[in-house]
Amino acid sequence: MRIKLIETIPVRIPLKPERRMISALGKHDVSEFLLVRVVTTDGHEGWGEATVTPRWSGETCLGAKALIDGVLAPAVIGCSASHIVELDRRMDAVAVGNWFAKSAIEMACWDIQGHAAGKPVYELLGGACRPLTVRSRFSLGAYDPERARRRAGELVALGFTTIKVKVGVDPPRDVERVRIVRETIGPDIALTIDANGGWDVETSIRCLRELEDCRLTLVEQPIPPGDYTGLARVRGETGAKILADESCFDLVHAHELIRHDCCDAISLYPGKNGGIRKSREIADLAAQHGIACSIGSNLEWDVATAAMLHFIVSTPNMQIERFPGDVLGPDYHEVTIAKQPIVIEGPLTTLTSRPGLGVEVDRECVERHRFDR
Ligand SMILES: [Mg+2]
Repeated sequence: MRIKLIETIPVRIPLKPERRMISALGKHDVSEFLLVRVVTTDGHEGWGEATVTPRWSGETCLGAKALIDGVLAPAVIGCSASHIVELDRRMDAVAVGNWFAKSAIEMACWDIQGHAAGKPVYELLGGACRPLTVRSRFSLGAYDPERARRRAGELVALGFTTIKVKVGVDPPRDVERVRIVRETIGPDIALTIDANGGWDVETSIRCLRELEDCRLTLVEQPIPPGDYTGLARVRGETGAKILADESCFDLVHAHELIRHDCCDAISLYPGKNGGIRKSREIADLAAQHGIACSIGSNLEWDVATAAMLHFIVSTPNMQIERFPGDVLGPDYHEVTIAKQPIVIEGPLTTLTSRPGLGVEVDRECVERHRFDR
């Protein structure tokens, strides 16, 4: 089961108009992601997806394609698709960073292993430790007050029990938006915020004090990544529960978060962390230190969403019951790339038990939306 070839396909799909996202990182209207097909010497095939956005990881779709075609693929051709540690070693030896590009190859290899064994990937990861249906929070963009109010009302009607509001754009308007959403959703729905690193330490402390009566269950990445001492100060001075997101791409970051005692939970997902195995490694390390993990998202399509779900259901420390994350990416997009799309009903996303990642890619659809020719 050795890797014989890797095909890379850049695909562009717009978001549904009502789902277009505004955050401290800018607007997300169209997804340009890279689909990756890995084929082995014995004829198995697996799919991966690099959910790249330059503002998030510095990677672009065509950049990821160039990196895989020219650097990663030559390094992993001949490697066994069932030896993930060796696969990661080879990729890390030829390129630093590029988490999403690496994760696409890695998840494709898990897909291959699952197909070869006739088992879903979560079985290969030790079996399901929670139900295959996962409840998500909804991430509400940094909208103007009227749009935020209307959207929050719709989300409660759809059955969401946790709402996350994007802040970090303009402090007074951020505070106003969170207040409006709290008023709209009432006292029983959980409310979290995500600044995407858009505030500084002083602004975070001031805004969180102003928002004390809004009873936020989590405050996600209030300040830019890298400032672990600053994050510890925000946490210590406000008592807010901190979810680290942009500050944790790899194990080194996780060790820093733990050493500085600056977060209550860490947001993980295979794309951001360079693959399912590496996400798992961070979740296990966090568990040893009593820190919960939850699932983050970059608005994935079905392949990467499936990889997230297999990781969640097989990893005990992915405490999505306490801290729901986002597993709704395909529902944001106007078109699905899967023949049997992942089932998403309001806040509930359900993983199948089909072999591999369980996603059959609709090749015709992918070719229609490919943008490199
Ligand atoms: Mg976030």
